[in-house]
Order: sequence, then C-alpha cells, then structure tokens
Amino acid sequence: MLAFLSSLPLSSKLSHSAFTPCSSNRSMTSAKPRSACTHPVPAVALASPYVPDLDTYTTLYERSITDPDSFWRDIAKSFVWKDNPGNESNEPVLNYSFTPGSAPGVNVSFLPNRKTNICYNAIDRWVEDPVKADAVAFYCEGNDPGRTRVVTFHELHDMVQRFANVLKNQLNVKKGDVVVLYMPMVPELPVAMLACARIGAIHSVVFGGYSAEALAGRILDSKAAVVVVTESVARASKTVKLKEISDHAIRIAAKSGHDVTYQIVTKTPGKLKVSPSAIEIPQDIEWDVALASADPVCPVEWVDSEHPLFVLYTSGSTGKPKGVVHATGGYMVYAATTFKYVFDYHENDVFFSTSDCGWITGHSYVTYGPLLNGATQVLYEGVPNYPTPARLWEIVEKYKVAQLYTAPTVIRALKGAKAPPPTETNPNPSSADWVNKCDRSSLRVLGSVGEPINPEAWLWYYDVVGEQKCAVVDTWWQTETGGHCLTPLPIPGLPIKPGCAMMPFFGIEPALVNGEGQELKGPAEGFLVIKNAWPSTLRTVYRNHKRMEETYFERFPGFYMTGDGARRDADGHYWLTGRVDDILNVSGHRIGTAEVESALVLHDAVAEAAVVGVPHDVKGEALYAYVSLMSGVEPTEELRKSIRACVRTEIGPFASPDTIQWAGALPKTRSGKIMRRILRKIAKNGPKTQRDDLGDTSTLTDPGVIDMLLSTYGK
Ligand code: ATP
Ligand code: MG
Repeated sequence: MLAFLSSLPLSSKLSHSAFTPCSSNRSMTSAKPRSACTHPVPAVALASPYVPDLDTYTTLYERSITDPDSFWRDIAKSFVWKDNPGNESNEPVLNYSFTPGSAPGVNVSFLPNRKTNICYNAIDRWVEDPVKADAVAFYCEGNDPGRTRVVTFHELHDMVQRFANVLKNQLNVKKGDVVVLYMPMVPELPVAMLACARIGAIHSVVFGGYSAEALAGRILDSKAAVVVVTESVARASKTVKLKEISDHAIRIAAKSGHDVTYQIVTKTPGKLKVSPSAIEIPQDIEWDVALASADPVCPVEWVDSEHPLFVLYTSGSTGKPKGVVHATGGYMVYAATTFKYVFDYHENDVFFSTSDCGWITGHSYVTYGPLLNGATQVLYEGVPNYPTPARLWEIVEKYKVAQLYTAPTVIRALKGAKAPPPTETNPNPSSADWVNKCDRSSLRVLGSVGEPINPEAWLWYYDVVGEQKCAVVDTWWQTETGGHCLTPLPIPGLPIKPGCAMMPFFGIEPALVNGEGQELKGPAEGFLVIKNAWPSTLRTVYRNHKRMEETYFERFPGFYMTGDGARRDADGHYWLTGRVDDILNVSGHRIGTAEVESALVLHDAVAEAAVVGVPHDVKGEALYAYVSLMSGVEPTEELRKSIRACVRTEIGPFASPDTIQWAGALPKTRSGKIMRRILRKIAKNGPKTQRDDLGDTSTLTDPGVIDMLLSTYGK
C-alpha cells in the first residue's frame, strides 16, 4: 500500500535553487519554433496557504494513506451529520472491495451508518449566521456584458426551499426519483440541483448544448417524470431555444413509451417572464408561478450517507457516455476538501470556474465544492471569447477573482485569438494584449482541467495571465472520481512543472501498471490506476453495475482503472500522456499522442493539433496529425515541412508525423475535448469511412466537422 511513498517528492529533491526559471529563453512572438521549457517554474508566494510547505503535504498525505479512516473521520467533523455522532472511533469510515464478479463485487461506502444532507451543508449552516446570510453566493454574469444579478446565501436558501416544495408538493417528486435539468448557467440551475438534494431526489443535469436525441436518451435512461428547462439562452451571438429542444426530446421519449409528467420552464435570462408561446404542452408549468405559490419553508430530508446524490453522464470522448452515480456523504466531503486545498480558498476570495454544471467540474467546483465552503463565486452564462477575447479577464478584474478554473481548450483558444486592432500606442498588438488591458492583480491560483495541458499553453497561462505570480494547478480527475485526484497544491516552495499533474491529492494512491497488470516502480510509463478507494469513488453506472465492473475493474483486478496513461518521472511526479488508446507504438517506440501534440502546437502557425495512429505495414503504427492553423495562416507544403521539423527537434525524428492533414476544426465533445476515436477512423478509412462505424457521435459540438474532415482528407 505504501510503495508509492518511496517515490513521493521530498523537499530536498525539489529545492528551489535546482531549477532555472525558463521564461527568459522564450518569446511570445518569435517566428522560429520555441522550446517548451518543462523545467519547473519557481514557487509563488501565497499568503497563509493551508499547506504551507511540502513537509506538511507529505505528512498529511502519508496519514491519508496509512490511516484513511481517522484522516477522513476528522475531516468529516467539519460537516453536519444528523444527530452528529462525534468521534466514534470504531464506526466504519471508508469500506471498499475492488473485486468484480465475486460477492460482494465492487462496492464502496463512506460513513455508511450516518445520515446527512448536502444542501443543508451547502446553505443552511451558513444562513444561520446573519452576516454570512447576506454574503454573496453568486455574482451572475450574463452572456452580454452589463446583464448581471447577485444572489446572496439567504436568497439562495429561499429559492431552494421553495423549489424543493414545488418538487415535493406540486410535482409529487419522491426521495430517490430522478429529475432531469436542461438549463444554461443561470442561478436556477444550482438552485434546482440543491432543491433535489434537499428532498433526496437524484438530479441528472444534461448540458444545455445537447441535442433533443441526447436529452431524450438521458430522460429514457432515468425514467425521469420531471424535466426542468429554460426557455432559451443567448450563447455568444446565437440564441439557443432550449425549450423547443426539450419539447422535442419529450416527444421522442413518449414514442419510446415514457411520458414526462411535468416540465418546469424558467424564463430566458434577462427577460421578465416566460413568453406565453413557450408554455404550450400540457406538462408545462412556469417556474416563477410555481415558486410564488410554494411554501417558503422546506425541512431537509436527512438521507443515508450512501444515498445517491446524482447521476451524470461522462463526456463520451471514448465511447457511449456512462451514467456515473455519486453518493451523498463521500462526495460532499471530497468535493469540499479538494476545493479548499487545491484552490487554497479563503474567506472573501472570489472563485470563478468557466465550467458548465452539465459537467462534473460544474457539479464539484461550481455547485457543491464552493458552496460547501461558503464561497463567493462568479456564475458565468456565456462563452470565454464573447464579445471579445478579453471577456474572462474583464470578469476577473470586475469581481477581483482570486482563483480561476478553466480548460486547456479555452486557454489555447484565447492564446491563439486574433490580436486586437493596432493603435498608435500599440502598433504591433498580440493576443496577450486582450489579457494585459485588464487588472489581474487579484489572481492567486490558476486551474486547468479536462485534457492534458500542453506546456506551451501552460506557460502562457502562467506568464501572461498570471504574470508569474500565480500557482498553476493542472488538475487531473474524472466524472467517476468526483474530485481532483492528481494535482499540484499551491504550496510555497513547490516549483511546479508546466503541463504536469504532479502529485496525488490526500487519500489517492496512484500507480502505474503494464499491460499485464504488474505494478511498475520508480520512473515509468504505463496505465494509470488507483490502488484504493477515496470518499467520492463512483458507486455505480446508473442501472448498469456490470458496466461499472467491466469498465473500471475487470482488466486490472484490485485496481481502479482510469483509462488514461501516465508517466512518472524521477521526482515521482505524474505526467498524463492521454487516453490509453492514444498511446502508440511506432517502430517499437511508445509515443503518447499528447507529447506529439504539444510539440506541434509549439509551432507559431499551429493553433491546435490532434494526433492518432494508423496501421502501418513496417512501423506497426504511423502518426497521423490533424492540424488547425492560427487564424489568417495559409497552409503550404513549406509550412508542413517546418511543422514536422518542429516535432523532430522537440522529440526526435521517430515522432515526426507521417501525415499532416489541415483541419479547419477538430471534432470536440460539448465539453471541449477532442474526440480522437473519430479521427482514428477517418485517418484509417478516409472518404470510405462509414457513419455507422464512428460510434456514438451524439455528444459532438459540431457534427459538420466530420464532413469537413472527410472532404479535406488527403489535403
Ligand atoms: P468518456 O469517459 O465518456 O470517454 P471523458 O473521459 O471525456 O468521457 P470526463 O469524465 O469528463 O469524460 O473526463 C475525464 C477525462 O478527461 C480523464 O480521464 C482524462 O482523460 C481527461 N482529463 C481531465 N483532466 C485532465 C488533466 N488535467 N490532464 C490530462 N487529462 C485530463
Ligand atoms: Mg472517461
């Protein structure tokens, strides 16, 4: 169990002086490919961090692994449990079996004898303090600058109680029923999530960008009788009519034999009420009308710690989305603890995550983690580059944001944005000028999540956005893990390596195994697995426990299989290399696609790149790269050569792609991840690719990208 501890980073190994700050040899505008320095950047100075030094981290981490029960029981004391049992040293805390097939099969439980309510912990205990009750829970920032709203903890409490009563008394929702939420990032979304939790109903949030078919599939899967929807929402300059899509989904579900009984409709953000034409099918009820007649007081339902809190579908990057189920108590404790330590959140800080509540990041680090810490945050309805690529930085300035959490795809897009027009004082503007014009002095921690972050993008985040004063935390985790698993903590004295997820969070014992499931020691590369359970381990795949056992526990019995590959360096730090399917074997060299992609985006002309393997008679596999160029750059043979040269210099000739296809865009999931499984099929079969062969494409942002890639194949 403790094998990993031997490779833990020790303070002596990470002494500050051992590293050369690498910003000096990089230029943001040089025409030549630059080297993405992967030396650690110097530690940043944070005032009174929770983990003041590496020794404290190591002590806490060791305790979380050697004595998880006492570690988590102590942390659980800061939450409210029904009839708070105090320090019962013999009560079960974290119990688990990772053995599929056999009785008791795969199962995990956390403080299974206790009862709690996550909504009580996220709101009620704060409003008991009259000062805290008036503190801001959400600064709501609309799609259009200037449309704002403020929601205090007290107002949140009121809305949640009323909506919980609507669910219970007007719509007959019972404990354990699933309620589907199909809404944009308006406060009614976290309100609806918390109202479900308050009465023990299970929420299933469906990202508001999904199609009617995808929504219908999720309604059918959960047999939800109630859907909550927003009439419409502006996303950049487009209007998305969510209610029309939901009506369509309800009709599809009805054709398959499932009737939705009620549909609650919230108004389009910025409008005074729902338009009469949107209340059209018999199931429709207006949110405002229902709330106005609801009892303002709704006592919480104390549920078992193991009671399911929500079902949430994975992004579908690697296959059909899985309905991941999380349980109340363990999820509550883990989401809150990771939020506090990874973002070093302190009272009066303003936190800002750009993630949508349709993803796990929005569940754990918008709705639950921050509110469980009594945090104030920005709830942003729009997209990061509307109306200009300065939008995020304007929000940071306006609310004095201390912690910003976003995804590599956003960072790359803003880094590659078209520069603002030249002015007399700035005749040669760059994309960094969108950032520089805003005051970011309030920022302390910059987070990244969702995909491996290329060192180049990491350094832009650190240098340009954070002006080398912020800790950058690249957080690796999954819908299934409920919270961060591998991430640097913003520890003074811990130099962070660009693009590296560094080290395990408390209670996580990562390991690398080879294809036979043998654990690899020391510096190594292999399948990333986790050896133990942590409080928010997924409990099951909704109504399909067999899929849970097969997907995560069958291949390497005794381990949780993440499906990702990773490398551990000589300091014991973890680097994510991509999905296990994305590790290629080219002429006997194991190459992670993430590494080649990072080398490709080092080239000034390249905005984004995705690399896949295609079968090759001699090499086994050959590298096939899809490359999106910076706006305004013309694709030429010369450019192809210079991009290949960039990879040769960075990694070596063996990693130079055999094929580079110019791609106007890459196929991405609605959560912004590249769907490499589609790119693999197109690279292999070209124009002969059969649609049916592409698998589930329902979570693609723009299905038109497939046609575009097929038509530009070979070009
Ligand atoms: P599906 O499981 O349906 O294929 P998905 O894995 O994309 O979808 P999520 O749970 O949203 O669904 O994403 C988790 C995955 O995202 C991780 O397994 C990993 O591949 C990737 N990921 C998340 N954060 C990071 C990170 N910081 N570095 C590298 N990869 C990351
Ligand atoms: Mg996954």
